[in-house]
Amino acid sequence: MAKTTGKPIATSKPSKLMKKDASKEKRTSTKETPVAEQVVETKPLISVPPVVKSDTSEDKTEVTIEKKLIALYSLQQIDSQIDKIRIIRGELPLEVQDLEDEIAGLETRIDNYIQETVALDRSVSDKKNAIKDSQALIKKYEDQQQNVRNNREYDSLTKEIEYQNLEIQLSEKRIKEFQATLDLKQEEIENYQKQLQDRKNDIEIKRNELEDIIAETEKEEQELIKNSEENRKYIEERLLTAYTRIRKNARNGLAVVQIERDACGGCFNKIPPQHQLDIRMHKKIIVCEYCGRILVDDGIVNAVN
Ligand SMILES: [Zn+2]
Repeated sequence: MAKTTGKPIATSKPSKLMKKDASKEKRTSTKETPVAEQVVETKPLISVPPVVKSDTSEDKTEVTIEKKLIALYSLQQIDSQIDKIRIIRGELPLEVQDLEDEIAGLETRIDNYIQETVALDRSVSDKKNAIKDSQALIKKYEDQQQNVRNNREYDSLTKEIEYQNLEIQLSEKRIKEFQATLDLKQEEIENYQKQLQDRKNDIEIKRNELEDIIAETEKEEQELIKNSEENRKYIEERLLTAYTRIRKNARNGLAVVQIERDACGGCFNKIPPQHQLDIRMHKKIIVCEYCGRILVDDGIVNAVN
């Protein structure tokens, strides 16, 4: 990049030689056919002049490709950050959704319990009315006992009174049972209402969190998108199309990856030494022969970071 007018003659000569050697090797080597294919395939993308006209033109190409690789790697970094933001923003609404479902479930349960307590209350008052009816009957029978004509009538009324007393006892027993169930339901309703309040507090916190994150990340995302677009200007259309296509097909959205421990940083397949050498030269845009991702070396990575 910072080459002076005097320097290119000295530096371009060996690089020209190396380039010749590399291309000769690729043409003759049979075991590396896929590599050769990839290189041929990427050639139109990177606009390497087919014939080297002069030292200066080759130098320009070298710089341009390096610049493109840097732009591509920066673009990848920016786009990956955008991906990350979108993933975070995608997960929080799910948490809110889970809480909303839980709240709806609790509300339904409380509603059902309230319906049950209403029914129990009605049963209690029914039994209370039954007791009143029985008491009225007892009173009526006792009055009638004052005016009986014989013992048989008196005994018959006594039996009726006994029967109504039994009815009252039974009703009282039922009321006690209903009341016990009611107390239990009431307790459970209170528990659920407490849980409901807790969940409502949680959802309030989560919603605020979500709003904050959305506001925060949207600003960040806008800036990143602006950066991404800015970076795209330095990359030609065909290369951008390839980048977008590879990114779409890759599970992790990575189209440009670093060589890590002699392997592709995307699919972790080993990269042949000659291939690695070509990548380090920054003279061609080289893709992984297994996954098709664009490969860069630490030189490019360091230039970006
Ligand atoms: Zn790969």
